[in-house]
Amino acid sequence: MKLRVLGCSGGVGNELKTTSLLIDDDILIDAGSGVGELTLDEMRRIRHVFLTHSHLDHFAFLPLLVDSIFPSIRDPLIVHGQPVTLEALQTHVFNWTIWPDFSKLPTEEEPVMCYQALSPGDVIEMEGRELEMIAVNHIVPGAGYRVACESGAFAFSGDTTTNDNFWNVLNSHDHLDLLLVEAAFSNADLDLSKRSGHYTAELLAADLKKLKHQPEVYITHNKPGHESLIMSECRQAITDRKITPAQTGLIFTL
Ligand SMILES: [Zn+2]
Ligand SMILES: [Zn+2]
Repeated sequence: MKLRVLGCSGGVGNELKTTSLLIDDDILIDAGSGVGELTLDEMRRIRHVFLTHSHLDHFAFLPLLVDSIFPSIRDPLIVHGQPVTLEALQTHVFNWTIWPDFSKLPTEEEPVMCYQALSPGDVIEMEGRELEMIAVNHIVPGAGYRVACESGAFAFSGDTTTNDNFWNVLNSHDHLDLLLVEAAFSNADLDLSKRSGHYTAELLAADLKKLKHQPEVYITHNKPGHESLIMSECRQAITDRKITPAQTGLIFTL
């Protein structure tokens, strides 16, 4: 299984892109501005999008992706997410006002995209890859994913602050090779991080102690301009693990 980081920042600017991870050549986790890294051919190969939650930075390029590949794909693009996430997209984005309802185009019978509701705990098997949705603790209902194949497993936290469930679920499996986890704010923004449902470096350090596995750890979703500060605070607070900033263009083979 191949994992390519298309975007993993908390914002945009120059090389910074918002969250999108490409698994092999056919599955996206989130569809933020990182999707703009893909060629048109690469976009046409995407078959599934698994959303973590309904915030704009995680789906902003989904409407443009669907429009760009329309109507040249044979099977519909399947958008997976919690019902509340999918409802938000249908009501507020694909509503004919902000963007056309591509679940009815070019025809209702054979649309270019469709929705598939998922609940935390659900596991979807896809040609040797297994995606498990895991509830996290964000300001809107949010989820992370654990993705496993025969030769390895990685997990992505999505947006979250302090919680037990994400770590308990990861611990319930016997291995984890790679973890991408958010640290959006510096320690000085503790109040803001709690109100917006994100980790600071110290909150993340406390939660990482719950994890029994020793995966490679990559930090995502830093507030633009605060990357150096957040990473140095993470390195200060997390002394028993090697941590690395995630960035667009990283490719992992699991
Ligand atoms: Zn969010
Ligand atoms: Zn976000």
